[in-house]
Amino acid sequence: MIRNRKTLFAVILVILICIVFYILHTKKVESEDEIKVSKSKVVYLTFDADMTPFMKKKLDDKKVSSYYSKDLVNYLESEKIPATIFVAGMFAEVYPDLIREMAKYPNIEIANHSYDHPGFQSPCYKLKIINTDEEKIGQMEKTQRILTELTGIVPKYFRHPGLCHNQQDDLLAKKIGLTVSDSGLTSGDSYYKNPKDIIKKVLSEVQDGSVIIMHLGGPNAPATYDAVKEIVSKLKEGGYTFKVLRWGISA
Ligand SMILES: [Zn+2]
Repeated sequence: MIRNRKTLFAVILVILICIVFYILHTKKVESEDEIKVSKSKVVYLTFDADMTPFMKKKLDDKKVSSYYSKDLVNYLESEKIPATIFVAGMFAEVYPDLIREMAKYPNIEIANHSYDHPGFQSPCYKLKIINTDEEKIGQMEKTQRILTELTGIVPKYFRHPGLCHNQQDDLLAKKIGLTVSDSGLTSGDSYYKNPKDIIKKVLSEVQDGSVIIMHLGGPNAPATYDAVKEIVSKLKEGGYTFKVLRWGISA
């Protein structure tokens, strides 16, 4: 009986020591992370890869040769620049090899940008508008399936086309396990044709934690590639480091 009690006491003691050690260790890791995040300046480069039925028709009719910049993709891959790419499902259907290729790079994160790029709220530039929850969830889920099948990775982030959304739309995305990343620094790369204008806007507005919203090039964002090279170089000089969204603390 006494021996059993001693054994029981020893077991409880070991368990208690383990619990105390675990708590202390976890706290230490948390505080190290906090110090690291608050001390370094971080930016998140993000690129939207859009595709609407209208754009796809232009490709099919050979009026447009490509809706992304191969130079930009090569640059991000070869220079290992952390980048999150928000991909429309229809874009992934047109360029499946590109999506598979980019997903293999650990510095590139593939995220969801709806299926065929409709506006979730009206007005939304000249995009077609969808209104029902079913249509909106359908847009997100279809692209989750397409991207997961191509890459083997389930996307975690979602961006509304044209950034047109309300709180209810955010809740819909959350319901299916997606975090919305709509707020950030808009680079204006779909308006500005001169890289200098994009560079000026980004560098004058950037701050620690900025999510910089750009596009993957092509005729709708012709100056992005030239602008990005300069933006990355200047931000590095300024002490910034780059992250993909899933490495960050929040979107
Ligand atoms: Zn878009």
